[in-house]
Amino acid sequence: MSYIEPAPIKDKENPLESMMQRFDKAVELLGISEEMYHILKVPRKQVIVGLPVTMDSGEIKTFEGYRVIHSTILGPSKGGIRFDPGVNLDEVRALAAWMTWKCAVVDIPYGGAKGGVACNPREMSAGEIERLMRAYTTAMLDVFGPDQDIPAPDMGTGPREMAWLMDEYSKSKGMTVPAVVTGKPLVLGGSLGRTEATGRGVMVSALAGMEKLRINPYRATAVVQGFGNVGSHAALLLRERGVAIHAISDISGAYYNDKGIDVAAAVAYRDNNKGSLEGFSGAEMISGDDIFTIPVDVLVPAAKEDVITRRNVESIQAKMIVEGANGPTSFKADDIINDKGIMVVPDILANAGGVTVSYFEWVQNRIGYKWTLERVNRRTDRIMKDSFDKVYETSLKYKVSLRIAAYIVAIDKVSSTYKYRGGF
Ligand code: NAD
Repeated sequence: MSYIEPAPIKDKENPLESMMQRFDKAVELLGISEEMYHILKVPRKQVIVGLPVTMDSGEIKTFEGYRVIHSTILGPSKGGIRFDPGVNLDEVRALAAWMTWKCAVVDIPYGGAKGGVACNPREMSAGEIERLMRAYTTAMLDVFGPDQDIPAPDMGTGPREMAWLMDEYSKSKGMTVPAVVTGKPLVLGGSLGRTEATGRGVMVSALAGMEKLRINPYRATAVVQGFGNVGSHAALLLRERGVAIHAISDISGAYYNDKGIDVAAAVAYRDNNKGSLEGFSGAEMISGDDIFTIPVDVLVPAAKEDVITRRNVESIQAKMIVEGANGPTSFKADDIINDKGIMVVPDILANAGGVTVSYFEWVQNRIGYKWTLERVNRRTDRIMKDSFDKVYETSLKYKVSLRIAAYIVAIDKVSSTYKYRGGF
């Protein structure tokens, strides 16, 4: 038997640290009491499980899995499941809190949660991943539930894994329970528009920001870091709205073309190349870090956390950053970005399109009715635009960045709900 060692907790500028510092700043501006501060800060539940899984070789490997329920004040908790070697409790806790603030910013009736397993799905067969997902679901049977805690995909997981989760949970209950998880395949009760929802929200946020900065999308340029679910859909949809995409990147490197990348061709190339852009010929290859230094209107980090830090922030030349990823910017980079006059549409707002359509999926599962793509998109766009406007107005009122304003909107919503529920 072997044991997969969880990744060590990272340095001081980790995403949890950055989130807490922004949270503290917003709490101070709102004048929240000490008691309420702790109610909002401490996660409701943190579950760590050991998951023995039989590998194809016959060997039994034990993985470590996590689920953190940060808050259930606004409703059942909601959040994705990440399969990645770097997953650790610290990261999952930060991402769970983000979900609380994200749901609150876009005003949907969910609390926040997140889950993860320290594993490398790229080195595992489909059968091994399935056994791991089923083991994780069984270990979390008391945690998950359509009125309790509703998981979804995140890095390293997708509709296939959600189908296994739904099946395992349903078997344990003796009935089909589609509303226990979102991000399912369409045939299992997934929602139209879910796959592209996060990228769509990034596009709506970017256009809303451009409008404030008086940037015409048909004359605008953008670069997108990360070409997975979020990055590729954001790039495609921005391109559809007239924005020229000057560079895209993935783990294989960055691809630059100052005449504009043919995004649809890049997507087709990636899909025929095992998900990688490696060898994409429609652009010049540059180093992954150089994508941040290209002078464009919009920079979309859509890969992973902690990519814009004190180390590279000075070289950023974009007028706007729209955060597709969770926590791409460290707290220490915030002030420099603000001093440079760069508008940042923060993660908890910009990438909330995904959780919004997840919520629509759950609503459709519960009412037993399927919405058209047109209805899903129209409602997503409205929620994203209204939320952007509310955060923008709050930023003017408090004279703060959009990031702090988003936290103010979210914290105000959760704390006032808590007071009405009578626990205070
Ligand atoms: P994904 O696995 O589909 O894609 C990730 C992409 O980032 C891949 O193209 C990968 O090659 C690339 N990448 C990884 N490391 C990189 C690096 N160092 N440099 C450049 N590219 C790199 O993941 P996703 O679902 O698109 O999620 C991306 C981010 O968005 C994550 O932070 C995730 O938490 C966040 N997010 C996702 C959703 C969603 O609905 N999928 C919703 C909200 C937030």
